[in-house]
Amino acid sequence: MPIIAEQARATLKRLVELKLQPTPENYRQVFESLDHGDLTQAPAPASDCADWGSALRRLLEQWERSQAGLSQLQKRQQIDRLAALPTAQAQWAELGKLLDRWSALPARSGSAAATTPIETREAEASRDGSAWRELWLNTLKHGVQPFCAHDTAQRLLRELIASADGVAQPSALNPQAREVWLAIDREQVTEYAVRNGLTELVRLLLGHLGDLVPQAWVGVQAAAIREQLQAPLAPERIEQAQNAVRDLLVRHSVLRKSEDDAHSTAKALIDLLVRKLGDYAAEGGEYNQRLEGRLTQLQASREWDEIRLLVQDVLDDSRSMQKRSGELGVHLAEAQRQAQAAQERIRSLEGELEQASQQLQEDPLTGALNRRGLDAEFARLQSRVVRQGQPLTLALLDLDHFKAVNDTYGHDTGDAVLKALVHLATRLVRPSDRVARMGGEEFMLILPDTPAQQSLVVVQRLLMAFSEQTLVQDSAGRRIALSFSAGVAELCPDEDFAAVYQRVDTALLQAKQAGRKRVEFAAPCGDAKSGGSLPKSALRDFTLRG
Ligand code: GH3
Ligand code: MG
Ligand code: MG
Repeated sequence: MPIIAEQARATLKRLVELKLQPTPENYRQVFESLDHGDLTQAPAPASDCADWGSALRRLLEQWERSQAGLSQLQKRQQIDRLAALPTAQAQWAELGKLLDRWSALPARSGSAAATTPIETREAEASRDGSAWRELWLNTLKHGVQPFCAHDTAQRLLRELIASADGVAQPSALNPQAREVWLAIDREQVTEYAVRNGLTELVRLLLGHLGDLVPQAWVGVQAAAIREQLQAPLAPERIEQAQNAVRDLLVRHSVLRKSEDDAHSTAKALIDLLVRKLGDYAAEGGEYNQRLEGRLTQLQASREWDEIRLLVQDVLDDSRSMQKRSGELGVHLAEAQRQAQAAQERIRSLEGELEQASQQLQEDPLTGALNRRGLDAEFARLQSRVVRQGQPLTLALLDLDHFKAVNDTYGHDTGDAVLKALVHLATRLVRPSDRVARMGGEEFMLILPDTPAQQSLVVVQRLLMAFSEQTLVQDSAGRRIALSFSAGVAELCPDEDFAAVYQRVDTALLQAKQAGRKRVEFAAPCGDAKSGGSLPKSALRDFTLRG
């Protein structure tokens, strides 16, 4: 008997975990599955194509079904959670469990997909009314009630629990139960909207923090934190973002404190100096008066002893004045030293923060700008285009057959090639031009104040230099010939980064398709087709020479 009671408890727990309605049929299924080992714990099958096909068909089928106690929103959230899992295997295993759960749920009453006639279920339920009631009540109290956050759903649920005591047929509770599910559904929709709204608000604040404070490093750090809050959100990422915000606040307060300290020191020093100068001036006034008195006495004096004493007094006074002025000089020098030290402390703190922010905008391997740096630079230059109407051209470069370079000569050689391209590009373009790494072996050149035609010549020059330069040799002494393909586009008025990127990317693809080692103009704005290309005769074919 105790074993049966244990199994019954485990079954109830599993029903709640699987979010299944406590019908006798579900109870029996779960009870048996526990008895024979839990089916949902079965190992995931290897994810070959046939399995995926049937899994997708099942998913479609269950997605379109209308299950009781499972809203579309809940389905979507469960799929979102599944998509956020780190490995394909974990996703596969979770998909299996999720489909088992969904298919075990009965159809919503009134839905066309209902498989079990209500009367049959009721007949089964009435065979064991007390078990059904207990299950129903336990599930409502322990499985549903804790998730009702708002008054309406709480009240409806309490009423439903109270009604369960008085009814003979479970179907009599259907309308009331539907009200509860609908209220919970509405609650969840609202909570989803609130959560999304709050996340968006945080993103917006972080995105514009740089505009609100004068220190450039704050904007850069905020942009980095904002990137951590990209969907799909996971608790760990939120925690990382919280830590980063805390770090930002601490750095800011350290800097503020140093500035405040420096201000207080400066104020105290000025106060001290003003007082010392006042004392000095007062003493100077007295000294002058005494000096004048002694000079008058001196003119009237006839006695050598008296004269000697008067001269001695004048000398003593002037020595003491000299000492006072020396002390004042020391005070002044000390004040100057302290003010300078405070200023240097602040400058060094600011320098450290600027450097840390700069690193956030740099690709660690090549030293080129990373995506974050590119975004910031593009935003800065784009506003100049709008204000001054100067041209701005972008060139997207992708190394040709780079996988072969890695495969043949090793990853370290591949890394050296990436660094060499950035080094060469930085040397060949103007100081105001920028080189950014988009990711992998794809780079973006940003050429301000340069029309497309002129930029094409720059990129062509870089391509020639890059392909002619022997960058690395392998252990057998083989030389690597390298090249890239590129697309070039001048930014149109009102064009954002995504739009111009699409144009250069299409042009780059065309350069690849046309045989690589070439540069293509992008299509003009609003035109799907590409423009002209670099004459083929200008460039030699790409080969990996042995
Ligand atoms: P295509 O001419 O069509 O561009 O061919 P591809 O081989 O250059 O392009 P593909 O996309 O097939 O391969 C890109 C390679 O770039 C594969 C990847 O290993 C390599 N890669 C990406 N990032 C790095 C990196 O940081 N270092 C090294 N060494 N290789 C990288
Ligand atoms: Mg490539
Ligand atoms: Mg690529």
